[in-house]
Amino acid sequence: MKKTVVMLCFSLFAFATLSLAQTQVDPKWQIHDLNRPVPAVIEPGTASTQDAAGRAPSDAVVLFDGKDLSKWQHKDGTPAKWKVENGYFEVVPKAGYIYTREAFGDCQLHVEFAEPQPAKGQDQDRGNSGVFLHGLYEVQVLDSYQSKTYADGQASAIYGQFPPLVNASRAPAQWQTYDIIFHGPRFDASGKLLRPARITAFHNGVLVQDNVELTGPTGHHVRPPYTAGPEKLPLALQDHNHPVRYRNIWLRELK
Ligand code: MG
Repeated sequence: MKKTVVMLCFSLFAFATLSLAQTQVDPKWQIHDLNRPVPAVIEPGTASTQDAAGRAPSDAVVLFDGKDLSKWQHKDGTPAKWKVENGYFEVVPKAGYIYTREAFGDCQLHVEFAEPQPAKGQDQDRGNSGVFLHGLYEVQVLDSYQSKTYADGQASAIYGQFPPLVNASRAPAQWQTYDIIFHGPRFDASGKLLRPARITAFHNGVLVQDNVELTGPTGHHVRPPYTAGPEKLPLALQDHNHPVRYRNIWLRELK
């Protein structure tokens, strides 16, 4: 019984510490404290247009710069076999998901995608791909422009869990953006969940996910529970047999 109480206190302390880092004023500093370190100076980059990809912020890890897929691989470690051309890359059906070679923790992620033109198929069988944070939690990529599917499976849904707040989809062939803030789950040494994963997301600049708390990894017709894992894992993009295009992918780890 005592042990349980100690564990509970430890968990609450760990949770409070984790929360403090993100959302509360740091009591260590006086208001307007001149001794408080100022934030690092960075170059903020530029926005994309339909014709040209923008430039990433200077402190971002560029995961695709229009030239090659050297930062990506398939699950078995073989080089990514998706097609690269004209500054973008395209899903090659049946080639399999691609994963970043590097693992990432909590992050800000920028992804641009374009749906196949002409549109083909309907419902989930229409321009389906996906951005998998930690390779586990899917922000859905789908052609949801004048096309219906279930709410928690349309474009920018947290698949199977949260529909987007609005449908901000652009037409096929138009470049679209996702800007995602991801805080991964935390587990204690025994594997117990201390904090669920959280996602905030913007689709084409519009808020679609407002700090939602995930129930666990993405499943199809199921909501699997969390299983303890590392704080850093590779990012993945889904091969769902549709030739969805991507460009200008960059990520900033949140420390
Ligand atoms: Mg998908």
